[in-house]
Amino acid sequence: MENLNAIFARVREEFPALTQKVHGKKLSYLDSGATTLKPRSVIDRITHFYSYETSNVHRGAHYLGDVATQGFEGARHSVAKFLNASSSDEIIFVRGTTEGVNLVAQTWGHVGLKAGDEILITEMEHHGNIVPWQMLAEQVGAKVVAAGILENGELDLEDFKKKLSSKTKIVAFTASSNVLGTNTDMKLLTRLAHDAGAKVLIDGAQIVSQISVDVQDIDCDFFVFSAHKLFGPFGFGAVFGKKALLEQMPPYQGGGSMIAKVTIEKTTYNDVPFRFEAGTPHVEGAVGLHAAIDFVHRIGFDKIHAYEMDLLKYATEKLLAIPDVKIYGMAANKGPIVSFNIKGAHHSDVGQILDQEGVAVRAGHHCTQPLMARLGVPGTVRASLSVYNNHDDIDALVKAVAKAREMLL
Ligand code: PLP
Repeated sequence: MENLNAIFARVREEFPALTQKVHGKKLSYLDSGATTLKPRSVIDRITHFYSYETSNVHRGAHYLGDVATQGFEGARHSVAKFLNASSSDEIIFVRGTTEGVNLVAQTWGHVGLKAGDEILITEMEHHGNIVPWQMLAEQVGAKVVAAGILENGELDLEDFKKKLSSKTKIVAFTASSNVLGTNTDMKLLTRLAHDAGAKVLIDGAQIVSQISVDVQDIDCDFFVFSAHKLFGPFGFGAVFGKKALLEQMPPYQGGGSMIAKVTIEKTTYNDVPFRFEAGTPHVEGAVGLHAAIDFVHRIGFDKIHAYEMDLLKYATEKLLAIPDVKIYGMAANKGPIVSFNIKGAHHSDVGQILDQEGVAVRAGHHCTQPLMARLGVPGTVRASLSVYNNHDDIDALVKAVAKAREMLL
């Protein structure tokens, strides 16, 4: 552990945001589930792009246009490798996880679903993996069904199997809950869904910063994630889709770049993945994501996982030692997230006190209102950990929670 602590102490130094104080206190940033801080290498890459490479892509008009296009398509190649997709053609660039789910729902959904069909999700989904399916269901006359969770926050596999039927045409589930921390068994759920004849979309928002993902090994049909939860820029993300499926899907939005030929009467469309990327893309988002992928690979997922699991264990034990603290989600396979409440205190009041102590957490429903209803609470306080956190951050959290308890109870 000594060794890991030394490695991650150096990683921490790469994050300029952590050099500042908030409310006169040292900042303990424990809100990485909402968005991760950005390392210097990502910030520098985006600055370099705007300083020296600004040009539109895919126009082939001049030198800088070629540089920008190479940066943009280089990022696609890097994402394909990152997910172990079989080719860059399987990577569509979008604004993030939410847009990725909407893209699949509004394209594949209209060829893959008809009235009477079902979409199976889980009770622990983020609204971004619920609402797009409800909108699709309403449009085509299908139904959204949700598999339940167990008391410890794991997916209720028996309920999942029970709700999976010949009516299920797509199963959309999170790889890692942004509230409970629960990591689902992506490979098993995908196999069960395929055995039932359904396609699979995985919400990878919270998993991509934790472990390395292999979409060919998992065999999922679609996988979506956001760059900003992986040390990259806001407003950018990717959809992986199996090429054979992408080729059957109608376009998502119409406009420039997604076309082959346009006449006033009719348009023919570009090949995949460009067919799904209308208009000028978020080029600096792509090069920033590429730099973020390089950043995690430089550290290595084996080390990231080992370090984050040590932080999670430390935080869980310390928080549970405070009287009246209840943790939501104790799955055996968990990401570095601890959601909790102080019994008798409102989560927002706790969050505010923590903020005054320089401890940045999220307090609320975390865009998971159905899960809050299942847990029987209006919200929770969520501490989410990342590569730049250390035991001092957790000690600051624990001290602030103990203070909040004294003030509020
Ligand atoms: N899914 C999960 C599990 C999330 O945690 C989030 C963001 O918090 C999303 C989806 C939505 O991601 P974005 O807002 O980047 O589209």
